[in-house]
Amino acid sequence: MKTWDVIVIGAGIIGLSLAIELKKQGLRVLVVEKGEPGREASWAAGGMLCDSALETSPALQELASASARMYPEFVHELQDESGLKIDLRSVGTLLFLEEPPDPQTLDPHEWLARWRELEPNLKATNLRAKAYVGLYLKERCVDPRHLTVAAVAAARHRGIDFSSGNHALAVEVADGKASGVRTNKTQFSAGMVVNCAGAWAGQIGPHPVPTRPVKGQMLCVILPEKELVRHVVRTPEVYLIPRSDGRMVIGATAEEAGFDKQTVPETIQRLRQSALELVPRLAEARILEAWAGLRPGTPDKLPILGATPTPGYFMATGHFRDGILLAPVTAQLMAQMMRGQTPRLDLLKFSPDRFAN
Ligand SMILES: Cc1cc2nc3c(=O)[nH]c(=O)nc-3n(C[C@H](O)[C@H](O)[C@H](O)COP(=O)(O)OP(=O)(O)OC[C@H]3O[C@@H](n4cnc5c(N)ncnc54)[C@H](O)[C@@H]3O)c2cc1C
Repeated sequence: MKTWDVIVIGAGIIGLSLAIELKKQGLRVLVVEKGEPGREASWAAGGMLCDSALETSPALQELASASARMYPEFVHELQDESGLKIDLRSVGTLLFLEEPPDPQTLDPHEWLARWRELEPNLKATNLRAKAYVGLYLKERCVDPRHLTVAAVAAARHRGIDFSSGNHALAVEVADGKASGVRTNKTQFSAGMVVNCAGAWAGQIGPHPVPTRPVKGQMLCVILPEKELVRHVVRTPEVYLIPRSDGRMVIGATAEEAGFDKQTVPETIQRLRQSALELVPRLAEARILEAWAGLRPGTPDKLPILGATPTPGYFMATGHFRDGILLAPVTAQLMAQMMRGQTPRLDLLKFSPDRFAN
């Protein structure tokens, strides 16, 4: 029977990035995916790489900043290995807040009085009526669909094995250590297993963790003019994420709706209406698509990263709103831990142990 060094459960951006990192280090890797690789949260995401202290919890800041710094190289490598183009944009973000933030949390250059010059198509009167404070953030954004498609291609190119349409039911344990994965169809054998099953991670035993789906609905439009909006724009009601090819993503809800992924036409219309209030010319934009995805939420809104009490069984999940941002650093730190090295950033506060009782 064929065996592997590592089985990765789940082919979202977290599982794919980690599989690639482990393979680079010479391990034989199998990715087990219940559906099609890269078609769940990682497909549904907006792709904002938000690492500003204004919106990132202090517990996550170090990881978020490290990952944001890794992004250009991460994308460059995936493009190289897959031969595919990934839309990574560095134009920046205009963030509108209800309250002026604590100046301590801001670099002086982040303050912005000139947002109207940067985005002349934003409806200034509507923003002023709400008394929003406008800030410029030097953030990147990426097209998550390009990213996941390229990650799948890069993983295959590197010789990572995939078993798609195979639902992992449990991690097998022999002599007190992880020995493989039992699926609805078969069994696979490996000395290490890592659970990267996103919102579904808690369904796989042993040591179930309290991940839960947080539904996000969004839509994509084709802009009537490619550069109608160039920056990511975020307000308390809605965010706009322009892509380089003239599409724009408008998002998103955050709903406790179980594993339901249906879109609701009224909700999509409400998001569109909020976008129109920001940029009236979006009335001319054709809706291309609407969808919903399931963010992997956790009770403390922090990811679950680390070893379980079963030697050889690890978890890398629960990335909630930030899994696209956190993929490169998660892959690097988890690969270090799984290889018995000390991760370059401390992962203790993200340990699965915190949910042991
Ligand atoms: C609407 C929306 C907007 C978002 N916007 C952003 C954003 O702007 N920036 C950002 O950083 N993040 C964003 N996110 C969050 C981000 O998408 C997630 O944090 C990230 O995709 C999680 O990646 P993942 O690989 O853990 O999960 P997923 O992509 O969901 O992958 C998990 C995979 O595991 C598979 N799986 C599950 N159970 C099993 C099983 N038992 N056996 C085998 N396979 C299994 C699934 O089929 C799936 O393919 C957004 C999410 C949503 C929904």
